[in-house]
Amino acid sequence: MEAAGMTSDRHHDLLERAACAARETWDVIIIGAGIAGGTAACVGAEAGLRVLLIEKFAFPRPKVCGGCLSSRGARALERVGLACVLEGLPRLDTLSLRWSDRRADTAFAMHRVVARPAFDLALLRAAMARGVTVLQPLAARVVGDGLVRLTPEHVARAKAVMACDGLGGTSLTGLEEFGWDIHPRSRMGLGATLECGASPLPAGRLVMRCASPGYLGAVRLGDGTLDVAAAIDPRAVRAGGDAGATMAALFADADLSREALASATWRGTPLLTRRRRRIASGRTLVVGDAAGYVEPFTGEGMTWAIEGAIEATTHAIGMARKGHDAAAWAAAHEGLLASRRRTCSLMAGVLRSRAATRGMVSLAARFPRLAERGARLVAGVR
Ligand SMILES: Cc1cc2nc3c(=O)[nH]c(=O)nc-3n(C[C@H](O)[C@H](O)[C@H](O)COP(=O)(O)OP(=O)(O)OC[C@H]3O[C@@H](n4cnc5c(N)ncnc54)[C@H](O)[C@@H]3O)c2cc1C
Repeated sequence: MEAAGMTSDRHHDLLERAACAARETWDVIIIGAGIAGGTAACVGAEAGLRVLLIEKFAFPRPKVCGGCLSSRGARALERVGLACVLEGLPRLDTLSLRWSDRRADTAFAMHRVVARPAFDLALLRAAMARGVTVLQPLAARVVGDGLVRLTPEHVARAKAVMACDGLGGTSLTGLEEFGWDIHPRSRMGLGATLECGASPLPAGRLVMRCASPGYLGAVRLGDGTLDVAAAIDPRAVRAGGDAGATMAALFADADLSREALASATWRGTPLLTRRRRRIASGRTLVVGDAAGYVEPFTGEGMTWAIEGAIEATTHAIGMARKGHDAAAWAAAHEGLLASRRRTCSLMAGVLRSRAATRGMVSLAARFPRLAERGARLVAGVR
């Protein structure tokens, strides 16, 4: 059980609550309180399910993410009564694409900017306000059909289990049927938060800087700090010596100084482009990044997680109330996300060609209206 940094009183309290949770049969146990898990918990509780939500880290916790939430994702949250978590979020107005010394500025008004530690905490609070029981910080594991290990001594049971534990999650470790297929040329993610004064980048502008081994996005958050996130070939990071040196060498420009990039505290992710061999079996549904991901140029991961969680929760409701199994979730997930994943993979392919990337930035600079329409299409927003 993960409980680093807790006082012994709080640790004892968590163990007691885990013991209580293990005495009940839950309608649904959700593992991971990121975007997918937080959304699913709210939707499930709103539908009257008894929900147990388990999160490995104490919140707020950092998360590598570009922080741009599409209007499609925001609308999905509004539809399920979660407009409260969107209040006060700043909006983007401009996308600034850069390659070497080429630059194209395009109107880009369909995204909000979220600081993930605060946003995920807001979702968690919304879930608690809806009556969800939360165990945190605690790493859970699926150990059988409808069985979730909370501690070495305690196993909870549920009619449906939603694994929403992201790319680096451990809830399905050791269950062969849920193994990963990872793309052999996958990039990894790197992210950092820069201090307010570290860059002149104005609020409302998303800078996407492309280079051969990857790309980096930077955006100003509501509190004035700068969110910086990159997808990059891990070989480039190894060759660069460390993340800061690599980021500084590849992406420094007028908005992001070499010093700021080199001295930032970078967090890494596992390889990004991957999918599970199976995302539904018996009572287990796999949701959000935990089900699969494509590298993030189009900035859709949070929207996929939100829409996926809402749809998956309707399956969990059927499992809890009518004894259905999880099988139908695999086809629903495919219908919901397959074509957008293909667009995203196509973009990832374009961005691996220097000539195509240069051409894309040049074209966007010459035809800004066309670029605006293209950006909407690629971001999955009409
Ligand atoms: C570099 C980069 C940039 C990105 N930029 C954007 C962007 O601009 N816009 C966008 O929409 N998306 C972006 N994304 C994608 C987005 O961050 C993810 O798609 C989104 O966070 C997925 O949400 P999730 O809930 O599935 O997973 P996560 O947000 O990763 O949440 C999973 C949670 O599960 C917890 N957990 C893990 N294991 C366990 C366990 N065993 N027990 C309990 N809890 C556990 C974790 O602590 C975590 O809190 C980006 C991703 C990367 C890597």
